[in-house]
Amino acid sequence: MFLPADKSDEVDLRKTYDAIVVGSGAAGGMAAHVLTSHGMQVLLLEAGKKLNINQELKSMEWPYDHPRRGDMPPDSHALSGREYTIRQPPYAKGSSYKHVYSYVEDGTGSDYAKDIVVDEKDHPYTGTPYAWVRARCLGGKTNIWGRLALRLSDYDFKAASRDGYGEDWPISYADISPYYDKVDLYLGISGHKENLPYLPDSLFQRAVRLNPAEVKLRESMIKMGRVVTPYRAGVTTDGLKHNKYRSRCYGRGACDRRVGGCDIHAAFDSPTGLIYPALETGNLTLRTNATVNEVTVDRNTGKASGVSFIDTDTGKTYTAKGRAVLLGASTLESARLMLLSKSSLYPNGIGNSSGHVGHNFCEHLMGPGVNGLMKELVGKPRTLDDGRPGSFYLPRFRNLTDRNPKFLRGYGFEGGSGTGMFPDNAYSTPGFGSAFKKTVRDYAGAFIGMGGFGEVLPRYENYVELDPEVQDRWGVPALRFHIKFGDNEKKMAADMADSAREMFEAAGIEVLGVSREILTEGYSIHELGTARMGADPKKSVVNQFQQSHDVKNLLVVDGSTHVSASCQNPTWTIMALCWRSCDRLAEELKKGNV
Ligand SMILES: Cc1cc2nc3c(=O)[nH]c(=O)nc-3n(C[C@H](O)[C@H](O)[C@H](O)COP(=O)(O)OP(=O)(O)OC[C@H]3O[C@@H](n4cnc5c(N)ncnc54)[C@H](O)[C@@H]3O)c2cc1C
Ligand code: SF4
Repeated sequence: MFLPADKSDEVDLRKTYDAIVVGSGAAGGMAAHVLTSHGMQVLLLEAGKKLNINQELKSMEWPYDHPRRGDMPPDSHALSGREYTIRQPPYAKGSSYKHVYSYVEDGTGSDYAKDIVVDEKDHPYTGTPYAWVRARCLGGKTNIWGRLALRLSDYDFKAASRDGYGEDWPISYADISPYYDKVDLYLGISGHKENLPYLPDSLFQRAVRLNPAEVKLRESMIKMGRVVTPYRAGVTTDGLKHNKYRSRCYGRGACDRRVGGCDIHAAFDSPTGLIYPALETGNLTLRTNATVNEVTVDRNTGKASGVSFIDTDTGKTYTAKGRAVLLGASTLESARLMLLSKSSLYPNGIGNSSGHVGHNFCEHLMGPGVNGLMKELVGKPRTLDDGRPGSFYLPRFRNLTDRNPKFLRGYGFEGGSGTGMFPDNAYSTPGFGSAFKKTVRDYAGAFIGMGGFGEVLPRYENYVELDPEVQDRWGVPALRFHIKFGDNEKKMAADMADSAREMFEAAGIEVLGVSREILTEGYSIHELGTARMGADPKKSVVNQFQQSHDVKNLLVVDGSTHVSASCQNPTWTIMALCWRSCDRLAEELKKGNV
């Protein structure tokens, strides 16, 4: 496949770009796409490198073709879930390993994603335990994301009016729905219409198929007034005629191999979905290995004048100029950048007159879930169940029409079942020889499990700040975390575990195990809220168009601007909001209002 690697240019440091976009993941990629399609001259700065992602992922490589069956080299270490709970960050400090990666590198560590995620040794952070997963390369985390692509509804945008906690968003579903449609059509999403007011349908391409165990669970849930729907995957199952860099899904399931990705790009990733097409317009200059360390300010106007960035390889610093600056470095990194951008005009960091930058953190809690056995499937003919980009989703059902006495908001479950390439039950099945193999095979397709994702309430006290002492490898101050789950999260987690068991029992599934433990803060990789939007400049950082209340040519276009986390995965919403804001910015730039 043609990779337009040769199309990236040197930054013209004398030129004033119409817009400078920081970060090339879901948010930055979308900003580059929308602004270049409006004819704007855009400079996209990405801290990581441009990887040949197909060579990294090698998704069709068989385990026996890899010298270590897919594991990382022995000098590298992936943090275990336990390490996050018993130790304090920085987690790589004092480690005898040459490279240390986050838990997402999975168990012994996947050799296929180690260049995509950051080496914790170079990127320390401090404070309360937090499992921070970062990807520094072109496309960021979208190269390995889990693809569950969900919309939010007015149950989320107006949650505060419904239950009295926190703030409403300054937008409603009607404002963002046309932009969800644009994202669906431009990037492709597979799913099945359910007509649920609390989980709006997308403009779906062909859905992934539920297997017999999942169909049975779906039928049982209907009786309980709950829904099991095919995984809503940010994957093009029918193909996209307008994008030559992407293919339709062949159902190879490789995107689920440990931390995986799709090297035919049926699953959305920002480079092939957004950045390469933006490069084709001729309006985009892409500079990788460019770590932005400050938003610079014009002292006369108070507006952003551009950014200063460090060449990641040489350590040299440059300044680029722009009429507008858009931060899409990911939630916590954008907050860090705003806090780093201190000046006499903005002593608390740019755009931070409210003091809310870094605060109101929210995310999803994970951990509670259930595993079971669908006995009637034992010994049945085997099916191919991992040839799908996802299995099923069970949407929220708490605090919709009822009011739970113990906790606010809701949670949904991601689940899966059936036969995969490697049957996990081989580890736990006793015996050996042909009888052992038969037992493993007979049972392999009969297991089913699901894990919850619950809404973590935004709280001002859950925040990040700059660490006064610790710096990253490039001398940039690290983040210090002050983030802890509260009482609502603990009560919600207990209910998640109870309801998971109750649903499996109702479906006649033999419950093999219920997990009640909450995983460390950060585990969901859905960090949100550290520069929230709102109408009141005293209580929020940006307006509904993600434009800073203080600095009108500064936008924050990633998950930082979420007012609350909802329990639905954030990436599709990040991109829909960003598209809306960039349409508005393009208009305002043309009118000379910014
Ligand atoms: C394993 C995994 C599974 C996931 N599953 C799902 C899922 O199923 N559904 C879902 O909705 N979401 C999922 N996510 C989360 C999803 O990937 C993120 O929501 C999404 O990528 C956020 O986009 P972003 O642009 O804000 O950040 P990123 O994708 O992280 O991109 C940010 C980019 O900014 C760059 N950057 C950072 N700092 C700087 C700087 N100072 N200067 C220049 N560049 C900088 C980074 O290198 C990076 O490339 C998952 C993530 C992971 C890792
Ligand atoms: S199942 Fe589809 S999305 Fe996943 S790796 Fe295969 S082709 Fe890509």
